[in-house]
Amino acid sequence: MSILNSTFKTLYSTAPFAAITTEDFLPAFKKAIENAKSEIGAIVNNADKPSFENTIEALDYSGEELDRISSIFFNLNAAETNDDIQKIAQEVSPLLSEFSNDITLNKDLFKRVKTVYDSKSELDLTTEQHTLLDKKYKSFSRNGANLPAAKKEKLRAIDKELSQLKLKFGEHILAETNKFEMHLTDESEVSGLPEGAKEAAKQLAESKNKEGWLITLDYPSYIPFMTYADNRKLREKLSKAFGSKGFNNDELDNQDIVLKIANLRFDRAQLLGYKTHAHFVLEERMAETPEKVTTFLNELLAKAKPAAKKEFEDLEKFAKDLDNIDKLQKWDSAYYAEKLKQKRFDLDDEKLKPYFKLDNVIDGAFTVATKLFGLQFEEIDTIDKYHPDVLTYKVTDTEGNLVAIFYADFFPREGKRNGAWMTSYKPQMIKDGVNERPHVSIVCNFTKPTKSKPSLLTFNEVTTLFHEFGHALHGMLANTTYPSLSGTSVFWDFVELPSQILENWCYEEETLKLFATHYNTGEVIPMELIEKIKASSTFHEGMQTLRQISFGLLDMSWHGINPKNVTDVKTHESKAFKGTNLFPDVPENCMSTSFSHIFQGGYSSGYYSYKWAEVLDADAFEYFKEEGVFSKVVAEKFKTFVLSQGGTDNPMTLYKKFRGKEPQPDALLRRAGLIEKK
Ligand SMILES: [Zn+2]
Repeated sequence: MSILNSTFKTLYSTAPFAAITTEDFLPAFKKAIENAKSEIGAIVNNADKPSFENTIEALDYSGEELDRISSIFFNLNAAETNDDIQKIAQEVSPLLSEFSNDITLNKDLFKRVKTVYDSKSELDLTTEQHTLLDKKYKSFSRNGANLPAAKKEKLRAIDKELSQLKLKFGEHILAETNKFEMHLTDESEVSGLPEGAKEAAKQLAESKNKEGWLITLDYPSYIPFMTYADNRKLREKLSKAFGSKGFNNDELDNQDIVLKIANLRFDRAQLLGYKTHAHFVLEERMAETPEKVTTFLNELLAKAKPAAKKEFEDLEKFAKDLDNIDKLQKWDSAYYAEKLKQKRFDLDDEKLKPYFKLDNVIDGAFTVATKLFGLQFEEIDTIDKYHPDVLTYKVTDTEGNLVAIFYADFFPREGKRNGAWMTSYKPQMIKDGVNERPHVSIVCNFTKPTKSKPSLLTFNEVTTLFHEFGHALHGMLANTTYPSLSGTSVFWDFVELPSQILENWCYEEETLKLFATHYNTGEVIPMELIEKIKASSTFHEGMQTLRQISFGLLDMSWHGINPKNVTDVKTHESKAFKGTNLFPDVPENCMSTSFSHIFQGGYSSGYYSYKWAEVLDADAFEYFKEEGVFSKVVAEKFKTFVLSQGGTDNPMTLYKKFRGKEPQPDALLRRAGLIEKK
């Protein structure tokens, strides 16, 4: 039997990376799926009548072995993958989705769950148990378990069509992106581009046996060109090409697909008894209803618009003074904003980096956690690592009790995907009276040390580290009974609160003085630089806010209504954008036809959550500011009502217990400098 299928005999029962071979995974998965199936079988075939314990609770504790193997495997696939692992991932993924479908479509299992659910008023359940019961029941009902056979079949047909349409939507965007290239042969045409971007454009041209420079719609090519290229006509050309993806009335056009997706989602929601797709989605969100989301966005809009208008007018004037631009267009936005930012702040990463040596920043994050939550971090080398670069820590509380095991993996390498994320190897839960502590990990891609220099982080990397560390604290401080409600298993628009709030400490003098010292001289970062960081972080915040709001409103305009009467995508979109436009409309462009977040990815009826999370973290941090950024009282409340609670209760209830009131957008607007400071 594979080591993966047994209880780990390691210290803190950490993942035995050294003893696992790649060949172990597939058989271990198959065995674990078999075991999980028999656990489900035992629940279904239980002769006793369905109860919370023998059905709901048993269901939540089932599949523990499979979950642990999955987390080890998929974490490795993200952070330390290779061809063999990827091959196994392709083989295993359908097995896993088949297994989870087997559960949600299991009629006998649903019957038991429903029996418990229907008798819930007679059961003496804790809040956490109520939440679990609700969650389990909905995992079936939201997939059509209550529908008669014919409607069930219709639901499956809609789901199938939707997944095909989403795929096609994405394929079209990819093909549009790959199809376009702007070939430049005169050096004056790339004037303004930084050396790195120019070099990349040249290499791309060379790779296609072309002279000169090649600019494409891929972000690494598109963004620098829009930001730095002096040639306005070419910026216009590139911008229009970017904005017309899926909107060219050809075989790659997405207009019909957008309409079909919106309609099918509406039909699906109606079939399940919801008014619209947004009602369906938001049922499991902190925001709860489309009305609340729309009100939220419109209130934010009303307050941010004056500042956004002012920024726009300033930018237009700046462009006029500099280059005699009469009417500022979309393709001027990034270009003049960058020039204005340079002029105003003169802040570049190279000046800041010496103050942010990685080791110091890690210490800084740990110190913040110690001051706030009394956590102690001790580096240990007694547990297995999946790569020598990985740092491992034992986390304890003030009494020396184990809180968590913490892995940190900071540098890029082949086999690690881009970006930064938090994950876990073992969930927290209370089982058989034992509080099992979690094994949490953060993975980043930071600047590597060189022979002569240690790893020095950009300020953006500093906030990223604090962000992921905030997610990690959510995982480490988890203190719930059931694994599926533990730590970061919360509603989608609540999960970024712990991560985003941590970023706030990076801008505080009190925190920076603790760790931002020059790696050579030991000098503490000068106050003047801190002020510049703060000021530049809210540069053009009004315009950015308006942009985010406009996408949120567009999302709701497709999903919070009955779309049957919408016949023209562009007309519909223009209506949705009416209150948020600053730049003149570009008739040949359309956002919806390439809005992958909502038509391909998982953000439908969820785009608002970017701003929602910001409102939460600003409002929560303002509480700290009122009482002191290291206030033990506020920190204790944050730990008790937010971090330790996971998804055991409605997030608004938890938030109000912490804050004493519902979140208000004003803190965000004040932080962003969009309204007067208190
Ligand atoms: Zn995050």
